[in-house]
Amino acid sequence: MIARIVLFVLVFFLGYTIFSALMRWLRGQSSTKETKNDLDQMVQCAQCGTYVAQSDAIRKKKHGEVYYLCDETCLEKYKRP
Ligand SMILES: [Zn+2]
Repeated sequence: MIARIVLFVLVFFLGYTIFSALMRWLRGQSSTKETKNDLDQMVQCAQCGTYVAQSDAIRKKKHGEVYYLCDETCLEKYKRP
């Protein structure tokens, strides 16, 4: 019984791996550029107000709200009262 479950999981995992690889291959065929829109979304620096790419910004959580800071200098300034 256990062997059957293990075999089923193994087959499922193998199938999933092949499927995801195939999907990645198909996506690579249609368009070479990856959609990284979520990462490149522009966010405003909480300290100086400059807009920076979300991937470059420093993410900070304060009082349950998320803040973005453009660099270490702004982060240090923002941390000070
Ligand atoms: Zn800043």
